[in-house]
This record gives sequence, structure tokens and C-alpha cells, in this order.
Amino acid sequence: MQKYEPFIEFSEITPSAKITTADHGWKAKCLQRLIRMDLPVPATVALPARTVRLIASGQSIDSKAILSHFGPDSLVSVRPSPAGPDWGGPATILNIGLNAARHTALCQSHGRAAADALYTRFVQSYAIHVARLDPDMFEDVSPGPEALREVLRLYEYETDEPFPEDPARQLSEVLRSMARAWEGTSARLLRQAKGAPEEAGLGLVVQRMAQGIGQGISGSGVIQFVDSVTGCARITGRYLGQSQGRDALAAREALYLTRDQRGPSLEDTAPAILQDLIGMGASCRIRLREEMQIEFTIEDGVLAVLDAVKVARSVRAGLHIAVALAEDGVISPRDAVLRVEPRALSELLHHQVDPRGPRDVIASGIAASPGAATGRLMFSPEAAQASAARGEPCILVRRETAPEDIRGMHSAVGVLTERGGMTSHAAVIARGLGLPAVVGASDMRINPREKRLTSRDGRIFSEGDLITLDGSRGEALAGQAETLPPALDDSFRQLLAWADDFRDIGVRANADTPADAANARRFEAEGIGLCRTEHMFFEEDRFTVMREMIFADTPADRASALSRLLPMQRADFSELFDIMQGLPVCIRLFDPPLHEFLPATREGLRELAEALGKPLSEVTRRAEALREVNPMLGMRGVRLGVVLPEIYDMQAQAIFEAVIDAAARGTPVVPEVMIPLVSARREVELVKTRIDALAATLRSRSKAAFDYRLGVMVETPRACLRAGEIAQHAAFLSFGTNDLTQMTYGLSRDDAGRFMNTYVQQGVFPEDPFHILDTDGVGELLLMGAERGRQTRADLRLSICGEHGGDPDSIAFCRRAGFDYVSCSPYRVPMARLAAAHLALKENPEI
Ligand code: PEP
Ligand code: MG
Repeated sequence: MQKYEPFIEFSEITPSAKITTADHGWKAKCLQRLIRMDLPVPATVALPARTVRLIASGQSIDSKAILSHFGPDSLVSVRPSPAGPDWGGPATILNIGLNAARHTALCQSHGRAAADALYTRFVQSYAIHVARLDPDMFEDVSPGPEALREVLRLYEYETDEPFPEDPARQLSEVLRSMARAWEGTSARLLRQAKGAPEEAGLGLVVQRMAQGIGQGISGSGVIQFVDSVTGCARITGRYLGQSQGRDALAAREALYLTRDQRGPSLEDTAPAILQDLIGMGASCRIRLREEMQIEFTIEDGVLAVLDAVKVARSVRAGLHIAVALAEDGVISPRDAVLRVEPRALSELLHHQVDPRGPRDVIASGIAASPGAATGRLMFSPEAAQASAARGEPCILVRRETAPEDIRGMHSAVGVLTERGGMTSHAAVIARGLGLPAVVGASDMRINPREKRLTSRDGRIFSEGDLITLDGSRGEALAGQAETLPPALDDSFRQLLAWADDFRDIGVRANADTPADAANARRFEAEGIGLCRTEHMFFEEDRFTVMREMIFADTPADRASALSRLLPMQRADFSELFDIMQGLPVCIRLFDPPLHEFLPATREGLRELAEALGKPLSEVTRRAEALREVNPMLGMRGVRLGVVLPEIYDMQAQAIFEAVIDAAARGTPVVPEVMIPLVSARREVELVKTRIDALAATLRSRSKAAFDYRLGVMVETPRACLRAGEIAQHAAFLSFGTNDLTQMTYGLSRDDAGRFMNTYVQQGVFPEDPFHILDTDGVGELLLMGAERGRQTRADLRLSICGEHGGDPDSIAFCRRAGFDYVSCSPYRVPMARLAAAHLALKENPEI
């Protein structure tokens, strides 16, 4: 390290120089590693961030001292070197030191055309990045012998002074402009968005130019050893003769690196140099513990390595690279797990709209369920079913969805709604089914009767028109967009297996149907944390029996309908138990208001009257009688269980009989039976008494021993407050944060989409609380419920099964609160497993 007057502090990068990422930045440190590996890096000097900061504040610079390191006639480049590799920085400037005298010398050594091209390029980049002239000024300068004279003239005309000839002055101005650019507001905001701390500094590296221009083989290029999209081993990159910097990437005529049918390659021209580069890539991978892209120059057949940067990569490639490095013992499984961002995983589970393709957006809303699908527009569940029957994929478009749309949703490849929020019906069901969904797309209008959709820019789309849904971005696109397939490969499974070794909170799946349960297994959930049994009644045959049960006038009629539902439910549970193979299954007793099973239209009522063999007037009257002003706060959940206890009796019997059958087939299971929407201890007592009695009867009747756990779903604020006494009758509490959020805010989960964007934009809510757990308010109720419950019962099992269960921040909250597990839709299970591992690893550097 040397100090000069005027003060300037810098270090030549040598194997033993004291270069640190914190002081000199990531690039400087990386270059030192390359130098330690004996790679042919041209002489380089690093300025630490504190010096760069002084330069920005006006400190004069002794650039002569820096240049003295490079020999009298050398040209140099300056590159930004922030501490984080992804924090960006000002543009690199090449060829500093070029002036009339050097130009003349270059004309002799390299020929006039090459000398002119280099000088012209330097003047332009100096003019734009240092003198801050408008880049458009140089648009009309055509390449050729006149170009150099023209850019020098423009420079002088605009700045009122000739282009600086003194290399030291050129370097000082470059350093100053880069230092100041880093302090600018937009640069600050940009890097903060990429995760840089507010006070992040910038190091700079000054390097002797290795000219890619010369008499023998000369040129420059970049090479990498893995594919940026897939992460698989493959040499890619470009090389361009008589060029500098990253020219090869932009040039049409660049060479391929390895032998290629499409054109000439570096392997043909300079096979030994390619071999050297491959060797260097292999050592970089091991020493830098990363897949690197190497920037190189060849000057008269001599190879120089100018830089190495982390290979730019897709999520899928990032995962593949991390696993391959750990499998080769280059990094530990712990590091591999930490290198993959949990939220990014969902991109790998579904088809994605190819980010490189064009996007013609016709509507935008909430990105309720990720993935991409293309299909024909259909405006009713019946049309969707018919389309599926014809083998034509379709997108179901509705104002909002209701239970009677479920069959249509099953038939569709994606769902688009005008209304709704993150936990509205359409969103919850679509996530469960793994269908891409965009909800609350209020910038479009639909007219289901005329089967038309009016896009946000006024275009009309009709039934049968092709659209693509991008559920990851919350957009509907016109036509068929290019998509990328899911990537559930061996690397994916390996990474999650490692994650499971580290995490310390359980992850289960919300699964209502055998298909969901199969997905839960596919994503290796540790069990089912919520089986919403009402979803089992939406198939045609059951729907009708269910409606008969609802329309029963007398207990005897109800009992008759229930006795027909019993075997169907038993078969449902048997199938679930078989799929889950002894893993825990938490079954929630019937929850929704009964009228959700009634038709919403006159036509539907007529069909129902026909099916039930009752007069339309009677069916209409009964449907009216069941209608409630606030159904979500009405006769649902445990209230149904108390008022019409036969429904829960039937479900409990079906569960226990399925358990007995499963044990007989060699798959013993201890089911968890969960009572929804509880707000008072007595509700639990009443249900528990009947279920315990029923279990006793079945045990003695079947002579089979079986066990079960009865628990409570905590989704009303009162249940949190009274968790202490509720826990007297519950083996577990599972927090249903969808309803709990709805009731804590007094905010309808089905209507929130209308104003949620405005609320978030105006800072009323930091985030959509149906999406990201409100740890302040709802979280306080959660903590209160957990603590009061555990005071009553130290071994009380605690979990969360609302949609928040899959969100990394919510998982962090639940983990801190001592919850046993989180449960989320199957497609979020991988993200939850990885997020939980990150939390444990970040808290315990030892593991
Ligand atoms: C909840 O309320 O959080 C929940 C999981 O139940 P549902 O979404 O079925 O109301
Ligand atoms: Mg609920």
C-alpha cells in the first residue's frame, strides 16, 4: 500500500497484497484469486472504497502514481468493484491513455484502421461517461476514416476544450466520474433494490489493457462452462478477432468457441488456447467455488484473462449449479441450500412464460397461483367442461368463482377472475390444483352472457379466442406465448433432501382430494395439515346427494341422504390414507355455509327441482330460507356441527371406518379430526362428546382398536383469546389465518382485491395481509393463542394452515413462535421446505 501527496491510496493486486472484498470490492478480490491461481491477468491496481469516496467528495488524485505501475506507454481500463457481485456500478472504460502520440504509435504497430477504431471508441466513451455528453450526438457518426476526426470535433464543440491529451488527467477524470456516478440517487436506489446496504461503497480496479488487436492471432471473447438457462455443463461464449472488451457478444460475425457446424470456431483457429481456457475454467470452479464466465483477450497469440464474473443464470440453472458444485465436493450441501432463494423455487414447479418472448397484456390482477397456460376463453364451467371433453385446453374466465365452478376449474388449464383477492375461492382452489390463476383483474370487463372479454385497452375477446395466463406475474396475454417447462429433476430433489436435513419445523400440505394428496407426496410433504372435506362433495354424483341432504325436511330424510354420503366419504378417506401411507392426515369437518351448495341462477334452481323431484317453488323457497346476509359469518363451521350434528357424525364415522380398513390393509394411521370456526369452548365440548361416543361405539362394534386426535382450527379472534380453555378439549390447534385475517381486519377475503392495490400503494397496509401474514395484528393473536393454549397443555401441537403457511416470512414467524409445523398448498411445499432450512441455517452457523 502506498501513500502519495495529493493523497491517493491504492494497492497493486499481487498474490500477497492485502485485498479484501469489504475494502476493495468483489472484482478486486476475484482478480487476486485469479492471480493467485497463476492465471495471466495483466497488471492491476485496486482503489479501496474509502479512497473512491474521498475522490467523489473532491479529493485530488495523483493518477501519475497509479500509471507508473503500468509502464510508460500502457493503456489502462477502469472497472467498478462493489462489495456485492450483483450491485452493478458505472460502466467500464477502456483504452485510457490514448492520445495523439499513442495514436500515431498505434498506427505504426497495428495499422491505421485499428488505431482509429480504438481512439474513436475511447473518445466516445469518455465523452458519454466522463464529460456526460448526450450519446445521441454520436449516432450519426459513420464508421470509417472520418469518424475519429468527427468525434474529436464534436467533443471540442460541446465542451469548449480539446480532448484531454494527458493520460494522468484522463485517468483522474475517469476515476472521479465513476466515483460520483456511484453516489448518484438513481444508482443508490438501483443497488439498494438489489440488496446493497445504504452505505455500500465502490472499489475501482485499474488494469493494463491487453489489446485484442495485433498482427498474429488477436481478439477477445468470453467463455463459460455451463448453460445459463439449464445449468448443465456446456461450453458457450463467443470470440471475435481484432476486438476488445465484450465486443464479441454483440458482434454478428463472432466465432464460436468449440467446433460448430454453424460457422468457424476458436477451436479451429487456436485449439491450444481453447484448451488453456477450459483448464482455467475448471480451476476457477474449484478455487472460486462458483461457475465463472471468463473474459479473455488474445494479443499476438498470447492469452490474457481480464476478468471473471459469476455466470448469469436462471433460477433453474442456479439450482443445478449449486447441486453440482456440492455433489463434486466443491461446496458443502449447506452452502448449496443457502445459494437457492426459496421464493424463486415456485418458478420451477410450473410452466413459465418465457421471459425472452413478446408480451401482449390484455388484463392484469393479483398473481394468485403461479405458472403459465394457454387455452381458449370459456365463460362458464359448463363450457369449460365441454371444451375439455373436446380435448381443447381452456381458460375459465369468471367474475369470481363459487363452489359450483369447481368442476369447470378442474376442466380448465387456468383461471382468470375479475374480482377476488389472494384468498378468494378462485385463488385457493387454483393453488390447490396447481392451476395458474390471475384474480381481481379489474382492468378488464367480462360479459358472461355475451361471452365477451373487453381488455384493458378496449379490445374484445370472445369465447374460443386463445389467451395465455401468466399466474406468476398476474397477467393475461393475448394469443399463445412461448413457455418453459417445469424442472422437477434430480437436482431439485437433491437440494430439497439436503434442506430437510437442516430444517427444524415441519411442513405439511393442504390437500383435499386424492390428486392433491398425490402432489403432497410428490413434493414430499410430511403429511396433510388440512383436508377441506367439503371439496370432496363437488363431483356430480355427490353434489346431488349433498343437495338432497340440505333440502331434507325431516331428520329421517337427512339421515337417509347422509347414509348415502357415508360410503362415499369413507372411500375418500381410505384413498387419502392409502396415498399418504401412514403419514399424518388432518381432516377438517365440514366448514362452508350450506347455501354454497345451492344453485345461484334460476336455471340452476330448475335443474335442481328436477333432480330432487320437487316443485320449483318449494326448492326456491328453501334456497331463500337458507340464504344469509353474511354467510361467511353465519351458519358455517362448527355452528353447523352444533345445529345439525348428524353431518359431523357421518364424517367422523367415515373417518374411523376408513382408519379401521386401513389398519386391516397394513397401513395404520392416527387421524387428526379438526373442528372449524370455533369461537367458544362449549362448541368443542359438544362436538367432542358426540365424536368420542361414536368412536367408542365403533370400537366395540368392530372390535378394532384405533386412535385419533381431536383438535381445533383457530380462525376467529375469540378462539385466540380463549385458547387456554379451548385447549382443555383439543390435542392440537391449527391457525386458519385466512379467516383469522378476514375477521381480525373485518375485511372480506373475497372482496379485498377491489381496493387492496390502492391500500398497499398508499401505504395503509405494507402488504396484502391475505398474502403476507400481518405479524403485528394477526400475529399478535397467533402468539396469544399459542401461549394461552400451551399454558393449558404443554404438549399442545401448534400449526398454521392458512395460505400464509407457505410464505417464507410467515414460516419465520411460526418458527420463532415454537409452532410444530406449517401447512400450505402442495405446490408451495418445496418453497416452505427450503425456506425453513434457510431459517435454521442462518440462525445456527454451526450446522
Ligand atoms: C383459513 O381460514 O385459514 C383456512 C385454512 O380455511 P379456509 O380457507 O377453508 O376457510
Ligand atoms: Mg377458514
